[in-house]
Amino acid sequence: MEEQKICLVCKKNAQETPVTKFYYQESHFYICAQHIPILIHDPQKLVGLLPGADNLTGG
Ligand SMILES: [Zn+2]
Repeated sequence: MEEQKICLVCKKNAQETPVTKFYYQESHFYICAQHIPILIHDPQKLVGLLPGADNLTGG
């Protein structure tokens, strides 16, 4: 079964919006262009969505 490319924040898939893959710890995740700034500047908002996000600090 093909892996679903779905933004971990808004659950939109790559058919609806540009979605990019990123790697964190031993896994990888997908996030859409709209939510990349959250990952960069405000990763605390990803706690509960991204495992280990409580270890991240925003820039
Ligand atoms: Zn999103």
